[in-house]
Amino acid sequence: MLRVTEIFHSIQGESTHAGRPCAFVRLTGCPMRCVWCDSEYTFTGGDPFSIDDVLTRVRSLGCNLVEITGGEPLAQPRAFELINKLCDEGYEVLVETGGYVSTEAVDPRAAIVLDVKCPGSGEDARNHWPNLDRLRAHKDEVKFVIADRRDWDFSRDIIERFDLEKRARAVLISPIWDGIDLQEVASWITTSGLNVRMQLQLHKYIWGPETRGV
Ligand code: SF4
Repeated sequence: MLRVTEIFHSIQGESTHAGRPCAFVRLTGCPMRCVWCDSEYTFTGGDPFSIDDVLTRVRSLGCNLVEITGGEPLAQPRAFELINKLCDEGYEVLVETGGYVSTEAVDPRAAIVLDVKCPGSGEDARNHWPNLDRLRAHKDEVKFVIADRRDWDFSRDIIERFDLEKRARAVLISPIWDGIDLQEVASWITTSGLNVRMQLQLHKYIWGPETRGV
């Protein structure tokens, strides 16, 4: 069984897929504790779902784009099987992962949006660096959540050191909600010369930061 916090149909709020209708499967639990985490409600609870239960619910939403998220979705071993089954059924599958668990066993038909944790998260020591080597330039995206200038300097260093502009479909720079000057982040990016993409969490602007299931 999988533990599931929620399954819902909404607008994709992040990544280059932002703005697209998307079915979300939010799995319960995460081994990390990022300081600025906005999904602490996923750490515990949830309901038991068989993989067939999840598939039935996803089919009922009538949306071809499906995101597997959390929590940390890959912390549940059966998540890999769910991703595999969704790909078999022809869904376009996105996997949003915090970067702590290896992505090696993720079905290659799924696209990965991989977080690299910056120092401001308090979890940067737990980045699983081999995940960066597995990024595919035509498909996968890498995301840095930025809480301050130190996080930006860290991100820039990792982007250059791992050649992420070439290695990923997009390098996403995502300022934390309501805790950093957005104009300042924009100026760091424009003066860096890096080909990265600043992104804001669209769903929070539409429904507010506290609303769940959207
Ligand atoms: S990895 Fe994601 S869900 Fe887990 S603590 Fe960090 S932000 Fe929250």
